Amino acid sequence: MKMESLQELFISELKDLYSAEKQLLKALPRMAKACESDELRQGFEDHLAETEGQVERLEQIFDELGVSPRGKKCVGMEGLIEEGKELMEEDAEPEVLDAGLISAAQKVEHYEIAGYGTARTYAELLGYDNAAKLLQETLDEEGATDKKLTAMAEKINVEARKAA
Ligand code: FE
Ligand code: FE
Repeated sequence: MKMESLQELFISELKDLYSAEKQLLKALPRMAKACESDELRQGFEDHLAETEGQVERLEQIFDELGVSPRGKKCVGMEGLIEEGKELMEEDAEPEVLDAGLISAAQKVEHYEIAGYGTARTYAELLGYDNAAKLLQETLDEEGATDKKLTAMAEKINVEARKAA
């Protein structure tokens, strides 16, 4: 596909994010099920609910642009989720698995932070003020999630060190 403008790159990035979020809607419940810590499970469940709202924001942006959200698979997110799956298939001690799940989740959040930050900036440059505002809202949620994961890691990594 020819890509001649920042507008086209913007739409391509949005489709990538949409695919990433849709994949996460399926992955987060599996991660919640796998974890030992109630706090971490609650964190995954809370972020699943947030992710549903993030998908809706993207749909609103596509609506305003008059473009379909479909047509792109985010292979970056597919890879990160695949790595998470590999981890869950290991015969890991529960606390060690939780530490690994936090690591997997933070890689996902950082990927999203990069994607949303870029898309927000493109939206600003292209004059899509409402899209820029919506993308910033999601960016803030991803940033807050990353911080919560760091706070949980500070406890859970210590418990993992004590395991077997
Ligand atoms: Fe997200
Ligand atoms: Fe996220």
